[in-house]
Amino acid sequence: MNPLSQKRPATPGAEAQRRLSYFHERRDQIVSTIRDLVEIESPSDNKAAVDRIAEAIAEKFSHLGGEIRFHRAAGVGSHLQVNFAGKPARPLLLLGHYDTVYPLGTLARMPCRVERNKITGPGVLDMKSGIALILHALAALQDWHKAGELLRPVTVFLVSDEEIGSNSSRAITEALARRSAAVLVLEPSYGKHGAVKTARKGVGEYCVRVTGQASHAGLDFEKGVNAIRELARQIEKISSFTDLKKRLTVNVGIVSGGSRTNVVPAEAEAQIDVRIARLKDAAGIDKKLRSLRPRNRKCKIEITGGINRPPMERTVGVAALYKQAAAIARDLGWRLEEAAVGGGSDGNFTAGLGIPTLDGLGGVGDGAHAVHEHIVISELPRRAALLAGLIEQA
Ligand SMILES: [Zn+2]
Repeated sequence: MNPLSQKRPATPGAEAQRRLSYFHERRDQIVSTIRDLVEIESPSDNKAAVDRIAEAIAEKFSHLGGEIRFHRAAGVGSHLQVNFAGKPARPLLLLGHYDTVYPLGTLARMPCRVERNKITGPGVLDMKSGIALILHALAALQDWHKAGELLRPVTVFLVSDEEIGSNSSRAITEALARRSAAVLVLEPSYGKHGAVKTARKGVGEYCVRVTGQASHAGLDFEKGVNAIRELARQIEKISSFTDLKKRLTVNVGIVSGGSRTNVVPAEAEAQIDVRIARLKDAAGIDKKLRSLRPRNRKCKIEITGGINRPPMERTVGVAALYKQAAAIARDLGWRLEEAAVGGGSDGNFTAGLGIPTLDGLGGVGDGAHAVHEHIVISELPRRAALLAGLIEQA
């Protein structure tokens, strides 16, 4: 019998070490897969570019025998679903995205470089290395098991619009999660030690729009109603809704208004980012924002928006999944940490449905969405081994 094919080995440490060496031997192949993906630019807002990477990734998955299904979307790139058959069991969902925040042409000034222990490039951490890990973990499992059959069915779902809110893919993600035993999200890990994410804040976006009355600042000053002044007063109030003890934050991130200095402004607008750690805080903050009333009664206030990603809370199911991951990592010789983070991902949707979800299983590195984005090459073998173990056991 293939020594790598036993689910519960007699000597877990030795088995784990064999698996780790397997990935160490294939480290350069993993690096080259990551390179292939980073060198295909895929900004969320460029449908043609995102469709191109979807095709390239689909081809890699079809080499592994996955059944490919594109979910065509209007306006954004296709989402990619790949089904792998396995022994009868509830399927596992592996979740990720191939869109990035970088416009076309970024590669020219931020090239994909392999230097010493790092790979740099747009999207290398968030989250093209995560996609490469899925490919190599599945390939390894097929290698280790007789006739290439997986111990369970696995669905891979990679979306094209995560960086712009997942509006088009959300319903599909949720439908796939509902029929799955658990969800593993290949978003970047957290911090230097590659912690997985067991809690994420929920995210809301709001817009507060104030309407006043325009007038000539010199000739008719008294007839004007200054919308910017009203908005400034509202911003003080809105900012006071932050409650750090509840890990609830309200950030006025963008303000705009007015037309010229010699005009009393009739319009002003603020865009607001809201983060909540607990679902039960969603209604309260929503109500507070919707209850804003103008201080100057000659102004009108209009509030739009809402909470669009529920928080991923550390439920019993999430904690159990983390424990399993930590046990696999222990066998592989390291202590896997967990972290609660402020940023949202598609894991928020699946956790919000009560499906055990573990996030941050992707690359280890730094600089997501920034010029110094990179991953650490030496971390790749054990991340791949961890993922392979979880695919079998989660
Ligand atoms: Zn991401």
